[in-house]
Amino acid sequence: MISILGIPYDEGSSYLKGAQHGPAVIREAFRSPSSNTWTENELDLGSGTAIEDCGDLDLGYGQNAREQIESAIRNLTHQNHKVLSLGGDHSITYPILKGYASKYGKLNVLQLDAHPDLYEELDGQRYSHACPFSRALEDGIIDRLVQIGVRTMNGHQREQSSKYGVETITMRDLPETMIEFDVPVYITLDLDVLDPAFAPGISHYEPGGMSVRDIIRIIQELDSNVIGADIVELNPTRDIQGMTAMVAAKLMKELLAKMLES
Ligand code: MN
Ligand code: MN
Repeated sequence: MISILGIPYDEGSSYLKGAQHGPAVIREAFRSPSSNTWTENELDLGSGTAIEDCGDLDLGYGQNAREQIESAIRNLTHQNHKVLSLGGDHSITYPILKGYASKYGKLNVLQLDAHPDLYEELDGQRYSHACPFSRALEDGIIDRLVQIGVRTMNGHQREQSSKYGVETITMRDLPETMIEFDVPVYITLDLDVLDPAFAPGISHYEPGGMSVRDIIRIIQELDSNVIGADIVELNPTRDIQGMTAMVAAKLMKELLAKMLES
């Protein structure tokens, strides 16, 4: 069973709020009659009972919100559900990974992102969306972190990447072939990995990014059991004609197809 969980939280955003409205618009685009419910490998997501929508978490703030997220993920994974979480800003991935680690132990994580999100702290905030992977790495709940699409590396985050043995693959070094994981993997998809031309509905524009097809190819060619995923950083207040929501819904379909197949 795959559970879809909305996490409408943007208290971790350092620059602009709005990502809390992500889950609602992704769901709306996912169900839009402008497309259909089939994936590219010809799986009909609209039939059968393999996918359940758990709705949105009703969250408090700060520590309380992180505990609620971790607890919801822990409950679902311990029922052997895979979870596709819809953010929310990228700070939600730290409590999600804690919930996953309680079930699976040390995790292998594939992060698609324009940013490494490896700050020790940003503007005094240790739980900012710029920090989730530093928190998870210092907790020791990540065995292997592969980041793809990064194009904002700086000195501090380069040090953090080396310190924790992160495999950071920058956009300019994007490989032709897919990274291999020989164990189950969790995918965290920050929509700002896309070029803003494809996805203007995000908070941090970083030109020179991936196309939608680049990401679909990465998902489809991944030859690993995908135990869970999240799609984060959609900011509908910045979107144009809901086009980023449609991109998120498309990527959601392909992630669900991969999670169902593995
Ligand atoms: Mn991020
Ligand atoms: Mn990012």
